[in-house]
Amino acid sequence: MWKSLTNYVRHAVSRQPRGWHPMLAVYYLTYACDFRCPYCCDGSGKPYHELRSKILRGSELDQLLTKLRRACDHLVITGGEPTLHPDFGEFLRMVPRHRFDSVALTTIGHELHGHLPAIAASVRYLVFSLDTMDEAKGDAWLGRGPGCHRAIVANIEAARRTPRRHFEIIISSVATPDNLDDLPVVNAFAREYGFRHAVCPVPWRTPRIQPTF
Ligand code: SF4
Repeated sequence: MWKSLTNYVRHAVSRQPRGWHPMLAVYYLTYACDFRCPYCCDGSGKPYHELRSKILRGSELDQLLTKLRRACDHLVITGGEPTLHPDFGEFLRMVPRHRFDSVALTTIGHELHGHLPAIAASVRYLVFSLDTMDEAKGDAWLGRGPGCHRAIVANIEAARRTPRRHFEIIISSVATPDNLDDLPVVNAFAREYGFRHAVCPVPWRTPRIQPTF
């Protein structure tokens, strides 16, 4: 909390803040992703899975967390699909030692099995991407064949049932011209289980979404 406060004050009193005083750190654990959401974009037009960057392993991850914790109180872990990092489980076990005020993990949710106990010990906000409750449409958008959407919804339910769950579940949807009718259904699903639901508009230059299989 104190780091957030001092960083905020440093920005508030300076018209031209120098140095690095972040309110939170967003760590792209890996750009790898096995899915092909049609709107996937790093902000410059490239889908994340086409980006190439060295990933940190083992103690390098711990060193990075130490640096981030010195700079700010809050951490967002994202990707790509962060669960595909080869040391994802080890990384999760490192996170609590750094005592961030809050940690959010964003995921498509397909590979969560086996990680839920470590997530429960390290994450405060677990954010699932979910754009529709229509299985066929969801599978078409994910681009990896039938059954993926069903597995993701099953993992959301498994996360909800995690014993002594302290993390909050948030459903995050991308709004496109092609799923506006689906969003109230996603919202009803979220409300039924007491999840928060965040909706973000798709970048305006994204072409009309076509199924990829
Ligand atoms: S799950 Fe995320 S990273 Fe993967 S293709 Fe979809 S939007 Fe991109």
